[in-house]
Amino acid sequence: MRIGIIGAGFGGMAAAYDFRQAGHDVTIFESADHVGGLASGFKEPHWDWSVEKFYHHWFQSDHEMLGLIRELGWEDRVHFPRPLTVMLYKKKWYPFDSIIKALLFPGLGFGLNKIRFGFVGLFLRLTNNWRALEKFTADEWMMKWAGRQVYEQMWKPLLIGKFGPFYKDVNMAWMWARIKARTTRLGTFEGGFQKFADLFADRLREQGVGIRLGAKVESVKREPDGLAVRSEKGSESFDQVLVTTSPNLMAKLAPDLPENYLKGLLELKSMGAVVMTLAFNHTLSKEGYYWFNVPKDEGYPFLALVEHTNFVSKEHFGGDHIVYAGDYLEVGHEYFSMSDQQLLERFIPAFQKFNPEFKREWVKKIWVSKTNYAQPIPLVNHSRNIPAIRTPIDGLYFASMSQVYPWDRGTNFAVQIGRKAARLMLGK
Ligand SMILES: Cc1cc2nc3c(=O)[nH]c(=O)nc-3n(C[C@H](O)[C@H](O)[C@H](O)COP(=O)(O)OP(=O)(O)OC[C@H]3O[C@@H](n4cnc5c(N)ncnc54)[C@H](O)[C@@H]3O)c2cc1C
Repeated sequence: MRIGIIGAGFGGMAAAYDFRQAGHDVTIFESADHVGGLASGFKEPHWDWSVEKFYHHWFQSDHEMLGLIRELGWEDRVHFPRPLTVMLYKKKWYPFDSIIKALLFPGLGFGLNKIRFGFVGLFLRLTNNWRALEKFTADEWMMKWAGRQVYEQMWKPLLIGKFGPFYKDVNMAWMWARIKARTTRLGTFEGGFQKFADLFADRLREQGVGIRLGAKVESVKREPDGLAVRSEKGSESFDQVLVTTSPNLMAKLAPDLPENYLKGLLELKSMGAVVMTLAFNHTLSKEGYYWFNVPKDEGYPFLALVEHTNFVSKEHFGGDHIVYAGDYLEVGHEYFSMSDQQLLERFIPAFQKFNPEFKREWVKKIWVSKTNYAQPIPLVNHSRNIPAIRTPIDGLYFASMSQVYPWDRGTNFAVQIGRKAARLMLGK
């Protein structure tokens, strides 16, 4: 069979691997000049490793991702350090990445709240019944079972940070998935995620997969002799096509889809993201913290502050200290139209809150990455709204971040859905 794949992210490449293993003729079309999609990275000449455009790490529970890496023979290149995650309470940062540290966290007091926090956490870790949870919003469920103080201190800032004005609409299965499938050890690939993506693409090419970079697909159309994939370089025909872009783009690429399916795609909601990567000549966190859970209502101009070089050694970046400052935002938010310099001016005063000695001379260079499609928003009873991987157009399939529900999006689930789509397309 001739199979076309739109997108060389982790999902598209994982599917390509399985199609090729099964002996099919595979071509990937990728609009960017590099593979890796949302998990891709960049590198300065004096760095040995790349940094991801949007901060990335793996969890030890990412079995699909780690399983694929094992199949490819690179498991010795994955490292799982234990970087420190911290949470704010009364203007002080406290470690919050293990049960013991959570129990010691002063923000919950030492009485009933701590017990409720513990029981709710335990229940969510043990239950698999996410279908019962998706009937409620996380806001109402947490308020009822964890109680106001635990919810407002712990979980509400997370929901507001990720979903902004939609935080009250997100269902409880999303929260369940986050608590269920996460570990305190965090992993990365030697050389960065881009290194893995490049090695994977090289392996696919060696096996005979065609990867067309800079090939932006404009449409996918059913024709009598197959599915025509049209890009500015012309049109090619395939027996089957897998699209791995956002639902919005899918609707634009295949307007011939029946109205019901198109409506389903267009009704899905998601958040965008704006992330600034900064190279500092000085460490920001004197305590060596990696991940700061920043509460938005404290007036910070971003949600996440991540000192990457407290996770991966600065030696890999020629001694530069790499810091990310980012936020999930509605498309149309002013950050999307601000210049890099304007954004830096907005962010600069906040760095002092993480280290009072911070000076703007510490900033050597900045890069800003923006995406309209960063985080799907799962509403109540969301499982009813997931578009099928097999579309009503014969031979046309769709696998995106919006369909990995009840799991939260991530490279692990991109690999999982890419391989699931491949099995479906191969009739396995
Ligand atoms: C801020 C942020 C932080 C994240 N943190 C983590 C993390 O810590 N750990 C983790 O595992 N995951 C994380 N993720 C999620 C992870 O990046 C995604 O789940 C995963 O990369 C999605 O892979 P994909 O293949 O489904 O889609 P994508 O990576 O989006 O791939 C789709 C590809 O299609 C291409 N494309 C689009 N339109 C066209 C067209 N018309 N023609 C040709 N090609 C096209 C795109 O260029 C892209 O390469 C994060 C994401 C964001 C935004």
